[in-house]
Parts: sequence; structure tokens; C-alpha cells
Amino acid sequence: MIVLDAHCDAPSQMVRLRDFALDNAFAQVDFPKMARGGVDASFFAAYVPAALTGQAATDWARKLLDEAQRQVAACAGSVALARCAGGVRRNRRAGLTSVLLGIENASALQESFDLLQEFHRRGVRYVTLTHSADNQVGDSCTGQGTWGGLSPFGRRLIPEMNRRRMLIDVAHAADSTIRDVLALSERPIAYTHGACRALASHRRNLPDELIRGIAERGGVVCISIYPPFLDDAFVRTLAESGLEARLSVEDAFIKDPADPAKRAAWEAVQRELQALPRPGVARIVDHIEHAVGVAGVDHVGIGTDYDGIEVTAAGLEDVSRFPALWDEMRRRGFSRGDISRIAGGNFLRVLSAVRK
Ligand SMILES: [Zn+2]
Repeated sequence: MIVLDAHCDAPSQMVRLRDFALDNAFAQVDFPKMARGGVDASFFAAYVPAALTGQAATDWARKLLDEAQRQVAACAGSVALARCAGGVRRNRRAGLTSVLLGIENASALQESFDLLQEFHRRGVRYVTLTHSADNQVGDSCTGQGTWGGLSPFGRRLIPEMNRRRMLIDVAHAADSTIRDVLALSERPIAYTHGACRALASHRRNLPDELIRGIAERGGVVCISIYPPFLDDAFVRTLAESGLEARLSVEDAFIKDPADPAKRAAWEAVQRELQALPRPGVARIVDHIEHAVGVAGVDHVGIGTDYDGIEVTAAGLEDVSRFPALWDEMRRRGFSRGDISRIAGGNFLRVLSAVRK
């Protein structure tokens, strides 16, 4: 089977001086951990914070993609970029780990199809339409409801992405935006990282109606390992811990990653977060089972959100722990074929379908 993580924010860590060739302490992703976890391919998303707009958003995406490509090139003997499902399979046969590129937040496009083309040419294969705020493309699930769904530009972007054979990612989008995309897109779409709202009420999660809608159009819904998406009880635990107020030490560390005191402060908060009672692998598989029940086994995948989250599910602290998921799925009675589909086969099928 080919294992594919449909979403992580690795490039954000690459520009914070993390060398992905090394097995880094307190890191959720690096190349040695991917190899140990049997992860054949991972989408490295260039995450553009909602606070960046205009040229700053585009420049930030370019900077992250440059750094991801530089670090992949520096590990040419063991890692390679992939631009399609066939590329992932070829790399695997050659013993190489695949990195695929995405952009998280279409603000980087500045409403320009030329920029869409530039990013596509350099290998970007999906664009996550929104992030935490409404943008020029449409409404976010955590936004103000500016457009009531897709914006006028968003309505032009969807057919253009279809035409250019780019995958549309609706993670972070408002329900209304996702409905609009489903009505407009002539190709399958992806929801690369989140969970099921029927099991946990987080706004980032998908209601069954949209899980079904994405599946009916041939797409894929990918389950994340982020505790607040998995379990409402953890949201309360985190609030009661008082740690939320201290998460700003991460910003200090990000601004000055070479400062040992700032690094130590962040690592101390990391240790306290990991000591909290957290949902574990079984809870992730609860969400996978629910999504399979609603969408069918051909429309579910895994998209961790590693490197974009301050805390992970217990037992999946970093990408080397991936096999724990397959062990739990086997215990629940998933067949080898079904595990293989969910582990990566379904996402690869959608990537191919978008190119046809
Ligand atoms: Zn995200």
C-alpha cells in the first residue's frame, strides 16, 4: 500500500530553521520520521496566515515553496518532489519518499490566474481555498460570512482550477462555500484535514451532508489527528489547563527560532500539552469509521495537519507513529484493501481523476 498524508504544514517549520534531513527532537515531521513511519508521500502545504494579504501573501507562499524545494533537493538521494499519482508510485519504486506541494489559503493568488499558473508550473497540486478568515475566494468556517459562500472571484476560480487540472481543497471553508464548490466543480474535490461534526462539534468539521456531497462527486474526505477536532471534551480540557494563554510562546519562538531561551519556553509548553489527557488513535479511527459509514470506503483518507498544530492525538505525536493507525483499523476489522484505500489509494485516485 502507498501511505499518503494529505496535509501538513512542514514548509512553515522549514523556514523556522528545521533541517528535515535530521531526526529533530520535538518535531512532528522530518524526512527520517516519514521513512520510519512508512509514509510514502506527504502534501507539504505552504500555509499563508489570514493576516497576510496582497503581495505579502504571495511572497510568503513563494518563500515557503522555495524552502521546501531547497530542502527536498538537498536530500535528493532519499526524497523527491512528485507532481502526480504516477510520480508518487515511481518515487516509491525508486525507494524515494515523495513530497507534493500545496498552498493553504488562496489569498496567495491575489485574484490572479497568472499566479495560479505560476504556482501550478512549479508543482503546486492543490489550493486550500480559505484559511481562518473569509478571503477573496469565499467564506471560511471561522469567518464573518462576508459572501454567503463563494465570492464572485471564487465562482470564476473553481472552473479555472478545473481547467488547469488543479485539485480544490475545501478544508477551512464555510459549509455554504463547500456547497457552492460542489455545485460548480466538474471534477472531484478534497477536504484535506478535519473531522466529522457528527462526533465533535468543532466548526472546522464536516456535517454528514457535506461528507456525502464530496463522496457523491468522487472526492475524498481526510481525517486529521488534531485533538480539538476529534473530541469536544479535549476542547474543555485545553480551556481548563490555562495553556491556551501560553501558546503565544510559540510566536516568540517562530520570530526568533535561533534563541535557545525561546525554544526552551516553547518546548516546556509542548511537554505540558502532551501531559494533558488527549484523544488517542482509537478516537481518530472513530472518525474514520463514521466517515466511511457516510461516504463509503472509497472516499476517506488521512490528512494529519502535522506542523500546523500545537498538540496531537495521543500515540501519534509525530509522523513516525503512523503504523498505530493501521494496527487500530485492523483491530476494528478493516480489511487490508480498505486500509490501503484510506491510507493513500483514495487520495491518489482523486489526484489522477482531476488530471483526466
Ligand atoms: Zn489548516
